[in-house]
Amino acid sequence: MHKTHTTNTPSSLSSRRARTLAVVTAVGLLGGGALAQPAWAAVPEGPTEHTTLGLTGAQVMTHLAELAEISESYADEGYRTWNGPGYEASAAYVEQAIEATGAFTVERQVFTVDDVIEGPVTVTVGGVALVGGHMINAEGTAEPLVGAPLAAPAEEEGGRLGCDPASFTDIPAGSVVVVQRGVCAFGDKVANATAVDAAAVLIANNAPGLVENGTVGDRNTSSAPAASLTPEDGAVLFDLIAAAQGAEQPAPTADVVIEKEFVAVPTFNVIAESIAGDPEDVVVIGAHLDGVDAGPGVNDNASGSAALLALADQVAAYEFPNDRKIRLAFWGAEEIGLLGSTHYVTDLAENDPAALERISAYLNYDMIGSDNYTVGVYDADQSTFEAPVTVPEGSIALEAIFTDFFDGVEQPWVDSEFSGRSDYQAFIEAGIPAGGLFSGADTVKTEEEAAIFGGTAGEPLDSNYHRPTDTLENVNRESVDAFAPAIGWAAHVLAWELVDAQPPVSPEPTDPAVPSPEPEPTGPGAEPTTEPVETVTPAPAAGSGRGDLATTGGSSVAPFALAAGVLLMGGVVVSAFAASRHRRTRSES
Ligand SMILES: [Zn+2]
Repeated sequence: MHKTHTTNTPSSLSSRRARTLAVVTAVGLLGGGALAQPAWAAVPEGPTEHTTLGLTGAQVMTHLAELAEISESYADEGYRTWNGPGYEASAAYVEQAIEATGAFTVERQVFTVDDVIEGPVTVTVGGVALVGGHMINAEGTAEPLVGAPLAAPAEEEGGRLGCDPASFTDIPAGSVVVVQRGVCAFGDKVANATAVDAAAVLIANNAPGLVENGTVGDRNTSSAPAASLTPEDGAVLFDLIAAAQGAEQPAPTADVVIEKEFVAVPTFNVIAESIAGDPEDVVVIGAHLDGVDAGPGVNDNASGSAALLALADQVAAYEFPNDRKIRLAFWGAEEIGLLGSTHYVTDLAENDPAALERISAYLNYDMIGSDNYTVGVYDADQSTFEAPVTVPEGSIALEAIFTDFFDGVEQPWVDSEFSGRSDYQAFIEAGIPAGGLFSGADTVKTEEEAAIFGGTAGEPLDSNYHRPTDTLENVNRESVDAFAPAIGWAAHVLAWELVDAQPPVSPEPTDPAVPSPEPEPTGPGAEPTTEPVETVTPAPAAGSGRGDLATTGGSSVAPFALAAGVLLMGGVVVSAFAASRHRRTRSES
């Protein structure tokens, strides 16, 4: 239920605020809202302090249980894997839940995934079938090759490597060329053979077995088909070729089948957008909805998806409409290469760059209920982990929103590597500030983390990661309870503007997640200041003192002081985004 507020727009409000209010009023009228009530004049037109939106772990668990049940019911069809019926059913649940809020519109964004259907690879010589292996992005044989002559490139330093185009000059067109792995790229060998119109290329491994995950580079449909062979089978073919050459006999022949089909498979993201909020300023909050086919994926990542649904419920129920647009993204095909989020950003960059510019922040939630969890915050300021990616500047302010919140409620937290290995990657590559939370996957828990969060040192943070045991039962409720209010808080800080910069006369009732302790004017974030964000919200140094956060001498942050500190930070966040947008504009010109 979306309450509406206020009709009496003071002239001091910004035009953005006035626009938002006008929209809300219209919605209220359509919904038959009781606008004639005289009490509205006393109602403030927006929040005066930031809240968690009342978002709790229990609300997340309600949606998580539904998604878990759907996923389990498709156990025989790949659970919630990107192209399976479990993904479709999960998306239908998401759409229905979003529609039910009444505060969001929802649609699917369809895209295609280049997929490969692989069949057998056989090389039959003298009635004996050798089994080969597929190479990534290599072509297959359109028709089986029958009685094709075998050939090898001239000896180079290190063997018949096929790295030098000149080694192929004696090879007749239509040959099946056998080369050894090594020295140059697979793609170079295939290109050299293609240049002499080879019918196929067989690459003999120089390590035991077939070549695993070997790629020929970008796909080139005019390349000769290619596959790998074991070193032993390669040696058999080289011996046959050499023997025929030595005896000045015709080349030996082979039948070759490399069965492979490239297909474009449609899938989709589910994108929900708040009806309220300034369309010129959009906060995108995302979680991947797809899972792996090895397990139900309840923590990875029904948990983040359920958090987005609970957030949508709370946005709709909240007393005040959001000032900025909130766009919730349920990404598809994350597990096979971040494809949904990458498509989303690439599509905007190509077809609607202005819409990309309107995104002021991206928040990512991928796994929030790991069984052996830590409360991880993406380390945008790189205080613990040097990021292997370029981190947009505003990301540091986003990290501080989370860390300030956790500090304020005395919830210990740790840095999580800002690695670009989840759906925020495409956003940061586009220069959009990003942040998020992560309860951990296959990284092993340290002694220090076990001392802070409990759990088991030396074990993975999520022992069920990508396994059949990633079930509802194995989701750590304590973790979900810790993450949920922070997710609400961050959305509130970013998508709402406070209407009153002054501390309220009497603190509003606070969320249960926020303690109401004794006032402590020197607590973190307590003192209004105009200093840069780095000094306003110092993050704890790497590995230092986080375990002590729960023991700050029995004192804590007064509710209004916490609100004041974050209010100020919100201002810094907004200005940091403005700077970022200019930077991006310059880099595009
Ligand atoms: Zn994930």
